Amino acid sequence: MNKNMEKLKIGILGATGIVGQNYIKLLQGHPWFEIKDLAASPNSAGKTYEEAAGPKWQMPILIPEEIKHVIVRDVQDFGTIPNDISFVFSAINMPTKDQIKEIEFKYAQNGIPVISNNSAHRWTPDVPMIIGEVNPDHANVIPIQQKKRNFSKGFVAVKPNCSIQSYVTPIYALEKAGYKVDKLIITTLQAVSGAGYPGVPSLDIIDNIVPYIGGEEEKSEKEPMKIFGKVGDIGIINDESIKISATCTRVPIIDGHTASINIKFKDKVPSMEDIKKIWLEFRALPQELDLPFAPKHPIIYLENIDRPQPRKDRDNDKGMAVTIGRLRKDTVFDYKFIGLSHNTIRGAAGGAILNAELLKAKGFIK
Ligand code: NAP
Repeated sequence: MNKNMEKLKIGILGATGIVGQNYIKLLQGHPWFEIKDLAASPNSAGKTYEEAAGPKWQMPILIPEEIKHVIVRDVQDFGTIPNDISFVFSAINMPTKDQIKEIEFKYAQNGIPVISNNSAHRWTPDVPMIIGEVNPDHANVIPIQQKKRNFSKGFVAVKPNCSIQSYVTPIYALEKAGYKVDKLIITTLQAVSGAGYPGVPSLDIIDNIVPYIGGEEEKSEKEPMKIFGKVGDIGIINDESIKISATCTRVPIIDGHTASINIKFKDKVPSMEDIKKIWLEFRALPQELDLPFAPKHPIIYLENIDRPQPRKDRDNDKGMAVTIGRLRKDTVFDYKFIGLSHNTIRGAAGGAILNAELLKAKGFIK
């Protein structure tokens, strides 16, 4: 985007939550986007952002001055959506997914593109579920969605669950290099910020591990099928060629989801040197387009035997890189390794900002 061009005004649905707060932090000084509208539940509506979100503000910066005094709107007050916003980020938590689906489609009906963190529409076939480095071409399903649902310029695009970020891009890089993957066994160690605010009670998580996160294992096993799929005539056609078995656990870490991954290839098995070279050299469309939120190195491999670690590595490349280490031979499958990604940045707000930049660069957001 030309430096002298006016920034696009944008809105945040669920602005008072953990992901919403991350948007506010990450969008400070963004070269293309400027926050105009903040919306949340009826409980927050009519209050200043400081009144509504102040008591639960978790970011390591003060609430920015220009945000503090914005009056929060009710997400469902469609009549007050400012008419100069170009799109909204959606990070709302509601009692049911159907309510979220309906709200996001209503914004689209009102001509507003919705870039969503919610899982509600991830399985709607004509809604793309995008990781910028893996399946940017899935944006081509947007015209199919608009035609089917009679949306003029609005649409819904989502990003996948935070739990899968630390292995989908590295696996995709290997597949792209011609090494077809057969099976994956994944065990995640997920941070508490992934549960939103106030999230997991402290007495449940301090000095403890919770070996269950509702719905997370199903998402981890299924979402890669859509991401690795292709655009068909009426929506995305899933690719079910990789079998995944996932165990998801909650650990006493604030930010950063870690995963232990065991991998079996279909036929050709790369050497360890090949794998590291593929990861080191991996670049994709967001890097080619030099998008503001694109990490320079989408996959970082650390040779230190005891890395990656959440506290030391989650912020690599502004929290947008996947950091990998401990690639070694497996006694049952071919190899195993550890992956780490920042759940509220790469896995939530940062990943969605990158998707918005991509959709802008491709002309879907104007
Ligand atoms: P959160 O901290 O619980 O925030 C929820 C937000 O939704 C708040 O702004 C809240 O507003 C709003 N909300 C609640 N009930 C509402 C209602 N009835 N109508 C309208 N707005 C309502 O949750 P979060 O962690 O930010 O997550 C938000 C979404 O992103 C969830 O779907 C989550 O699964 C997804 N996600 C989260 C992460 C993560 O790492 N945290 C990662 C990926 C995806 P009030 O403050 O007014 O109640």
